[in-house]
Amino acid sequence: MSNTEMKKVSCPQCSHDNEVKIFKTVNATTDPQFREALLAGKLFGYRCEECGYEAALRYPMLYNDMKNRFMIYYIPEIEREKVTDEALEKEYADLNDITRRVVSSFNELKEKIHIFESGLDDRAVEIAKVALNDVVEKRTGEKVSGGFFSKYSRSEGIIGFTFFVGENDRHYVQTTRLEIYSKSVEIADGYTLENSGRSFLLINGEWARNAIYKYKTST
Ligand SMILES: [Zn+2]
Repeated sequence: MSNTEMKKVSCPQCSHDNEVKIFKTVNATTDPQFREALLAGKLFGYRCEECGYEAALRYPMLYNDMKNRFMIYYIPEIEREKVTDEALEKEYADLNDITRRVVSSFNELKEKIHIFESGLDDRAVEIAKVALNDVVEKRTGEKVSGGFFSKYSRSEGIIGFTFFVGENDRHYVQTTRLEIYSKSVEIADGYTLENSGRSFLLINGEWARNAIYKYKTST
């Protein structure tokens, strides 16, 4: 079950006190409608009942997909050092067969959900993304400011990403063969051996660059 509570939130436009539903946990398996709302960007928002003002809220939330066996702890704008939550670590310490991640932005949260629902290994996806990021920069001669997992087809044997290129962040889709992904799984496995002992891990582009560096310098 999802865990929600009602909170009074005062409207930034008219100061009216609204009763807003806050999600402490979202259980995607028992409450698929909350998953839908989250992916549509509607879970964290509210509309002032007095003046109609629409606002987004940002607060920590645990996303739990029991069917696909993953949990993602979303902590908005966490500092790099504070990427864990002691209470949460304790509560879920024994779930060894469940993939646990921590993310700091809503877009990362959505991306992780898509990756895990596709049955992919997010560590390998991040490594493949970093590799393709560099390919796109070379190919376009422009800076890439970010990118996200956007395509996966087992029958076509491809995985793909949408990158933001150049000053205007224009979208650039780059796909690659699944062999690159498989190779990335190998690199990830070699790197994960020495982890921090934490169970909710921060797996992002920086992690992937470190994994690639370790791989290149050890072979
Ligand atoms: Zn209002």
